[in-house]
Amino acid sequence: MSTSIASRLAGLNPRQQEAVRYIDGPCLVLAGAGSGKTSVITTKIAYLVQECGMSARRIAAVTFTNKAAREMKERVGTMLKGKEGHGLTVSTFHTLGLNIIRSELKALGYRPGFSLFDPEDAKALLRDLMNKDAQVDADQINAVQHQISQWKNDLVLPGQALSHAADDDEQYAARVFEAYVRHLKAYNAVDFDDLILLPVVLLRDDPEALARWRRKIHYMLVDEYQDTNISQYLLVRLLMGERSTFTVVGDDDQSIYAWRGARPENLVTLGEDFPRLNVIKLEQNYRSTGTILRAANTLISHNPHVYEKTLWSNMGQGEAIRVVVNRHEEAEAERVASEILTRRIKERAEWRDFAVLYRGNFQARLLELKLQHYQVPYKLSGGTSFFSRGEIKDAMAYLRLLINPADDNAFLRIVNVPRREVGPSTLEKLANYANERGISLFAACHELGLAEQLPTRAVERLGRFTHFIDGVRRRMDQGDAIEAIRGMLHEMDYEAWLYQNASAPTIAERRMANVWILVDQLEKSMQQDPDESSVSEETETDDVEAAISRLVLRDILEQQAEEDDSDRVQLLTMHASKGLEFPHVYLMGLEEELLPHRNAVEAGTVEEERRLAYVGITRARRTLTLTLARQRKTYGELMDCTPSRFLDELPEGDLEWEGRADREDPEKKQARGQNAIAGLRSLLD
Ligand code: ATP
Ligand code: MG
Repeated sequence: MSTSIASRLAGLNPRQQEAVRYIDGPCLVLAGAGSGKTSVITTKIAYLVQECGMSARRIAAVTFTNKAAREMKERVGTMLKGKEGHGLTVSTFHTLGLNIIRSELKALGYRPGFSLFDPEDAKALLRDLMNKDAQVDADQINAVQHQISQWKNDLVLPGQALSHAADDDEQYAARVFEAYVRHLKAYNAVDFDDLILLPVVLLRDDPEALARWRRKIHYMLVDEYQDTNISQYLLVRLLMGERSTFTVVGDDDQSIYAWRGARPENLVTLGEDFPRLNVIKLEQNYRSTGTILRAANTLISHNPHVYEKTLWSNMGQGEAIRVVVNRHEEAEAERVASEILTRRIKERAEWRDFAVLYRGNFQARLLELKLQHYQVPYKLSGGTSFFSRGEIKDAMAYLRLLINPADDNAFLRIVNVPRREVGPSTLEKLANYANERGISLFAACHELGLAEQLPTRAVERLGRFTHFIDGVRRRMDQGDAIEAIRGMLHEMDYEAWLYQNASAPTIAERRMANVWILVDQLEKSMQQDPDESSVSEETETDDVEAAISRLVLRDILEQQAEEDDSDRVQLLTMHASKGLEFPHVYLMGLEEELLPHRNAVEAGTVEEERRLAYVGITRARRTLTLTLARQRKTYGELMDCTPSRFLDELPEGDLEWEGRADREDPEKKQARGQNAIAGLRSLLD
């Protein structure tokens, strides 16, 4: 055995070692937070390569968020030397799906240069389709979009949706679904859920494609398995087939994506589908202090359990968990910001050692202001997406139209940006003309017959636009695609357009800078080492399409354009914190209505909220601070808040309350004092 893998293995406990060494059949590691599940996956990748001689090219490891995939890549990167890791896939499910689609375009019936619709694009298409029959409102569109997504996640195709529709609403949604799928195909576009659905349908129905992919991927590892939906599970099952060479790891207590179609029952299904499944349980937590772990265990014991798990830690008891009650939300934000500032000095910690977690992104706004006030560097994950900015949407629409002229959404967005004096009636006639012939708007502009329907000047204007785009396309094909894109932006003087439309020059300046950032990102993405993250055999250097799809996908996945590993306090939702760990964690807004969220209480899904709180708590290694406000502005009105029921479900003796004078109880106070002393002692030990 090579020394490096031997020493890695020696660092694991016997059960973890068993999970790493077991390669003859399907393997499930079922264990609580911080027990080393992800560590098993990363070590196993190295084991497969270094000890079993498997080519890294044949291994695919998938997880749920880009952040988690990046972390995993880093961990594996430290183990594999030089060329050992070439061709290894460590990605999200969706990126794996995107790669499959890209190399199977023909089999899927798509033309090269397809568009990836983000949820906003998909919504725009649905709006068009639904408004054809009657005027519909945003809620109706959202409901249908959600239903379609659910169907796709459950591998229900339009025909089945129609025949199984339970009522009129579902009938209607199924009909929209059918039209939606047809239109996407006509646009040569796929949506986010298609990234899993299309590969699954292809592998299920096309034995040759299945054989191709089974030859490519020999071993699969899946992290956060409890959050897979049916389509994702089928993707794994199809790819692995009879060989059943896979390892999946998960924790049913951390299932927090039911609202996005996740099926924790997949844990049970796995045992039924693969009777030889080797289930390994891990019980030692290596992340958190005893106090933090006790809080997590006690909280989650209020949920019913399919699998009983025990989790212990020998990291010492550590400090008590502080619960800080604040007058209002501003005081809460102020408190967290100022505390991080002083704690960093006291604990000699780095900024990145602190994470602030919350239920919804809106909670970060006040906190951001306070952190800025104290000049604390921070990184906000999620929140306003880079790609939702107008200028980025414009630039992306140009890119999309360049690679896929059938993308009518993109065409409509930019035909008049910058202004080309193409009026609405021209566009309407153009759309009718294109519809009648079943061609795209862009293609329709090239047709001679159009001249009969439109005034000459309108035809000329459209002609100038398409001629311009055709020219850029040619330059992209012939030479440096990025140069052609930069040239295009200069030639049409997008900057001047921004200046005309911004309320202040500095705003236009910043918007233009954003566009250049996008182009730089694109360039970087194209230069990405083709071996780094893709199992498909394409050469990516000349592939601007692949780079664009990757950029869009990355944004959908994490709503965040830039990667940044500098030293900053991390601000993220509890959902986004999955799989991560930080020495000091602040959990904000422990109030009824917020955590558990009001919608969840109404929908009767408090158990999922409890799991979410469990995920949040178990991110903490050394200290955990829970904060709440007595009053909070809700819908513009200052409302009284009730402390979260989850606080009552934590071991009272481990909590140290601040700002709750009205509930002081001498006995508890004493217990707290002792706890604090115990905590201090264990720190000194
Ligand atoms: P989560 O459920 O939150 O995703 P996990 O089960 O994936 O957690 P890991 O992130 O793999 O847990 O491990 C938690 C921490 O424990 C990491 O810092 C990891 O390096 C450490 N760790 C894992 N196994 C061991 C071990 N055998 N000895 C020492 N430390 C370990
Ligand atoms: Mg993990």
